[in-house]
Amino acid sequence: MTQKYQLHRGLYDVVKTLPEPFMKMMADWLGGIFTAVDEGKPILHNQFTIFSELMVALDIQPLSPELWQVVSLQLDPNACCESIDAAQDAGIHPELCSANKAIIGDTMLDKIPPPSMVVLPTFPCDNSKITYQTVAYLTGAPTYFLDCPYWMDEKEAMDYWVNQFRGLISFLEEHSGKKMDYDRLTEVVEESNRCIDYWLEGVELLKLMPLPMNGPFVSGYMAGLTSLGLPTATAAVQASRDDLIARLDRRETAVPEEKARVIWFYYPVFWDGGLTSWMAEMGAVIPVGLVGYYNAEPIDTTSPETIIKGLAQRGLQSPMGKQGRGASELWIDDCLDAVEQWKGDCVILAGHPGCKWLRGCYGLFRDIARERGIPVMVYDVDLFDPRLTSAEESRARIEQFLTTVVFQ
Ligand code: SF4
Repeated sequence: MTQKYQLHRGLYDVVKTLPEPFMKMMADWLGGIFTAVDEGKPILHNQFTIFSELMVALDIQPLSPELWQVVSLQLDPNACCESIDAAQDAGIHPELCSANKAIIGDTMLDKIPPPSMVVLPTFPCDNSKITYQTVAYLTGAPTYFLDCPYWMDEKEAMDYWVNQFRGLISFLEEHSGKKMDYDRLTEVVEESNRCIDYWLEGVELLKLMPLPMNGPFVSGYMAGLTSLGLPTATAAVQASRDDLIARLDRRETAVPEEKARVIWFYYPVFWDGGLTSWMAEMGAVIPVGLVGYYNAEPIDTTSPETIIKGLAQRGLQSPMGKQGRGASELWIDDCLDAVEQWKGDCVILAGHPGCKWLRGCYGLFRDIARERGIPVMVYDVDLFDPRLTSAEESRARIEQFLTTVVFQ
């Protein structure tokens, strides 16, 4: 019988032979998923703003469906198309974000291991919420929503949010049949504190001019979704930080002549892996994106209560989660802050068609940027589906913007 998930299994067979700590982290994640599939162990679908510490502490295998797709797009730019079409053919409305259509299609076509549990917050978008309800409907997996208050500026709101995490632990215990060992959770969170220290250092180093390496600094986010709290994740992020320091020591820069620092305040175009290096050939570097824009306090591990509170507070900082849980100002202010702190010369915003809340923010942001003299380009490109805008069209738009507006 042919094994399922051939694309990802093939990638795993390659990645597990590679020595780099980042590759080891990704191989361990993929390997853990296949072990869980083959041995019938529980798999938890963690939406892309949910980090892994509680799952690591309970030895439950996380599988972020969005990351599953991103991995497949590194091998085949059209990898999500079949699932997107299958979801639409089944009646899912075409305006749903393609990442979400692909998750539903993957589930329908059995292209992703089905979840034993699903966990997501009520941010950052309605697309995500309805998608995971659909996944739960299709698979029967119990689902836990972390209900996030719209405003977090009152103590009662934070108390409510922290209580959502207490409920999450109960949910995980109930559906995994395991009991949380708080000594183990303390170890896991101390490990995740170390990892996040390296992540924050990497983020800071990419503020330097000229840029030592083209960014954004993504390994911390990958750790968050796959294995934050395990030493392999810490080693991967530390190695990424060390690479930056080594380049600085050798006085190496991302490009021979830095002509523009582009703030790409969204996710990358996942199917177009060569886009950033093509931009770098023109002298345009990306010091920060939504993924690399990260800040979080260390978690106080003196008691289970301080740990749960710390995890809840940190849960508000995840990329896209931080910006997508309330008023438009959350995203707009962070984008302006990114321009200032990373010394951006311009902002390029991928106009992903299904991301309605961000398309709304873009319009408001454009007006503010105009007043402040920040060049902005918004262009239509789908992050998961290359059929909307081709790589050639994408490059033509970016080149025109950079050469006529920015390189002046
Ligand atoms: S791209 Fe936008 S609409 Fe799609 S899942 Fe992310 S936040 Fe939601």
